Amino acid sequence: MKLSIVVPCYNEEAVIGRFDDQLRAVLDRLAVEYELCYVDDGSRDGTLPRLRALAQQHRSTTRYLSFSRNFGKEAAMLAGLRAATGDAVILMDADLQHPPGLVEKMLDLYQLGHDQVIARRSRDGDRRLRTALSRLYYRAVNTWIDVELVDGAGDFRLLSRKAVDALLALPEYNRFSKGLFSWIGFDTVTFDYRNAAREAGETKWRFGSLVNYGIDGMISFNCRPLRAAIYAGLSLATLAALYACWVIGAAVAGGVTAPGYVTLVAIIAGLGGLQMVMLGLIGEYIGRIYYETKRRPHFLVKESDGAAPAPAPAHASAPPGTAAAAPRSR
Ligand code: UDP
Ligand code: MG
Repeated sequence: MKLSIVVPCYNEEAVIGRFDDQLRAVLDRLAVEYELCYVDDGSRDGTLPRLRALAQQHRSTTRYLSFSRNFGKEAAMLAGLRAATGDAVILMDADLQHPPGLVEKMLDLYQLGHDQVIARRSRDGDRRLRTALSRLYYRAVNTWIDVELVDGAGDFRLLSRKAVDALLALPEYNRFSKGLFSWIGFDTVTFDYRNAAREAGETKWRFGSLVNYGIDGMISFNCRPLRAAIYAGLSLATLAALYACWVIGAAVAGGVTAPGYVTLVAIIAGLGGLQMVMLGLIGEYIGRIYYETKRRPHFLVKESDGAAPAPAPAHASAPPGTAAAAPRSR
């Protein structure tokens, strides 16, 4: 069997060499036929020259693609999956947070017949507030959406050819991988590993992008937020009617009195806020439709090792997803 390892890289010059050494050491020990598919996601540092050098040095086992600009990790993973030719594909980060040593265990589980082998990271070393917030988020989101998202189960996983083909057949432009992995299903097994710190370079995640990612998770897989908006509107209208009855009753019983300024302001501001939230929500869905209808490619390739089959044209299996708007994956 042949194993492909897909590695999205964005400004990973500081760590990519070390990653490659460690991974190859593991793979050579395993005596399995393999290929490494690096995808340079428009890095602005020396990542691309390093990938070229690696491809030169290990001609038969290294492939690379380089995007014309930064399209986001989702696009990079998609490009890697399209380029991969193996019977099984492992997605790995370049920063050594996904320990290469675990590849062996993944392969063992794959050979037992599983189509998805997920390595789930613990939250060791994360700040406590962040851990608590994530727990809360996953609990909320899982009662809400149709697919199951698991805390710590991210992109580090092995996919069988069947699973990869299923993923590649999903044409959406806004790709929320965590949800897509869960959506395709198949025989899945999960094991835990201790979280490792990034070896060098820095994370591309800021607090703001995490919040956005959280919102993507909430609305990528269902229309329930819109339904919730209807319920919120109905409840508020009922409350307003009750309140109006009460005010009228009080006026009839006790005559008209002037106070109520604070109540009015609070109601106007509160309702105004709520309406904005709901408009934003509708806007989010429309925005997604807008991006889907453009059918732009998910990424543009400016350079590759040549051996790599060109990524499928946008209309083949996969329409578009671009960068700016496409959610990134963790
Ligand atoms: N990455 C990418 N494009 C991006 C951002 C990140 O290809 O726009 C890659 C990055 O090079 C790394 C992986 O995605 O291999 C995970 O990124 P990072 O370590 O910043 O995320 P974290 O581990 O903090 O979740
Ligand atoms: Mg990382």
